[in-house]
Amino acid sequence: MAVNIISRRNTLKKSLAFFMSSSLGLTGCRLSSRGQFIEYPFTLGVASGDPLSDSVVLWTRLAPRPDEPHGGLTLDHAPVSWQLSEDEHFKNILRHGVEIAKPGSAFSIHADVKGLQPSRVYFYRFIAGGVASPTGRTRTAPSPDAFPGDIRIAQAGCQNFESGYYTAYRHMASDDLDLIIHTGDYIYEGGQSPHGLRLHQDFRCKTLEQYRRRYALYKSDLDLQAAHAAHPFSAVWDDHEIKNNWHGAIPGSAYQNRKSAALKAWWEHMPVRPTQSPSQIQLKLYRSLTFGRTVSFNFCDTRQFRTPQPCGGQKSSLCSEAMNSGAQMFGQLQEEWLLSRLRNTSSIWNVIIQGVPITEINSSRDPNLKQYSMDKWDGYRVPRRRLLSFIESNNIPGPISLAGDLHRHLASELHVNFSQPKKVPVAHEFVNTSISSGGDGKKVSKTSDRWLRNNQHIKFVENQRGYLRHQIRPSSWTAEFMSLDSVSQRHAALRVSREIYLERKINIQNMLR
Ligand code: FE
Ligand code: CA
Repeated sequence: MAVNIISRRNTLKKSLAFFMSSSLGLTGCRLSSRGQFIEYPFTLGVASGDPLSDSVVLWTRLAPRPDEPHGGLTLDHAPVSWQLSEDEHFKNILRHGVEIAKPGSAFSIHADVKGLQPSRVYFYRFIAGGVASPTGRTRTAPSPDAFPGDIRIAQAGCQNFESGYYTAYRHMASDDLDLIIHTGDYIYEGGQSPHGLRLHQDFRCKTLEQYRRRYALYKSDLDLQAAHAAHPFSAVWDDHEIKNNWHGAIPGSAYQNRKSAALKAWWEHMPVRPTQSPSQIQLKLYRSLTFGRTVSFNFCDTRQFRTPQPCGGQKSSLCSEAMNSGAQMFGQLQEEWLLSRLRNTSSIWNVIIQGVPITEINSSRDPNLKQYSMDKWDGYRVPRRRLLSFIESNNIPGPISLAGDLHRHLASELHVNFSQPKKVPVAHEFVNTSISSGGDGKKVSKTSDRWLRNNQHIKFVENQRGYLRHQIRPSSWTAEFMSLDSVSQRHAALRVSREIYLERKINIQNMLR
């Protein structure tokens, strides 16, 4: 329950009233008899996300002991107040409210703060049991009818905790960004690996409590916390938020329980709107954000509704199953939603964000044989052709795909028919490498060279860790591939290893007419 736009004194009164009722319900506690937290409850930091021009979601989770059940809390509820200000010292509090943290949602808070100004920086914090959280900084989206001239986005994903440090997030935290976009694999569900640089807990996630403890472990990373506290964040999931290579048709009640636990834990730990909380096994991930007329971001779900991977599911040459006309990547409802968003767009750039690369990647070592990964769009050729043909025949303006999963940086042109790479591309794709998954990579690698050689539409491949940084203007899109030489050492420097520039001839006066 958000209590917006009421006097500060009122909020304090309400907060106190909630607090008294909650302290009566205590059965054991991390609170003193005077209602103060004895142990610091904001161990997982704060975050904000899914910014609109007039609202943004503020997130935190109370967890004094993050690796214990319910984060070490035995309360039946706890009031958490939030404050939002234009100055970081909260001299003038513009918005405030109280939300109730409950064990049923892991004591997480998702405050959807409304009535804000477009393109504005705000600071926020939470207060619970007399303790204040770290201060977060966020920014609303530009006004829907504006043509913002300079939007800066980071694109990242795949952050296996065991494989390396989150140095890329530390660099993002100090960068000037409007939004961080995450393309999936925020956690990895697997057990402990014998060679981990730092270790998972000793279990493979299957229950709600295990997924919660895994998110808590990942969110204990201070570089990740710094990036969340510095910029708003919008994510899709890929496979490892649930399990490796999952699809929409896995049978069995044990799996359904696991999936609903995983999706619930995802919602509990992401700065997404309360309206997206999961009902049983379905969570509606797909949604869009518009940054003025300059760009629309369409966040899509390429796991929950996809048909099973064809041709054995792994890396394979094409079999007839890969041409199955009933194959789905988005599922019918989501595909209709996306195509209608694209058809009715008034944005200059139209971005599709999802987990797996759309581009064709023939990774075969044998020149007489073609091999593709069936978990990516290469295994879903009919839906891919349908999407790209739609973009081509409807002349969708500025189509861009942002994807992850490869653990490599990649830039590609997208074609309806990839055997005609000389044709004008239908769209462009930027794939972010991993934050840490795969550990230290190599700037030069045989696999990267082979991908470039086998696939003329692919323009850049690099196997190092890092993220992508995009500068979006009405008339241009600049993608910078940011790379780190090491994630097994904490302080690696960041460099731009490739810059790709796309230009569009735009007459804004004509668009305004
Ligand atoms: Fe991954
Ligand atoms: Ca993946």
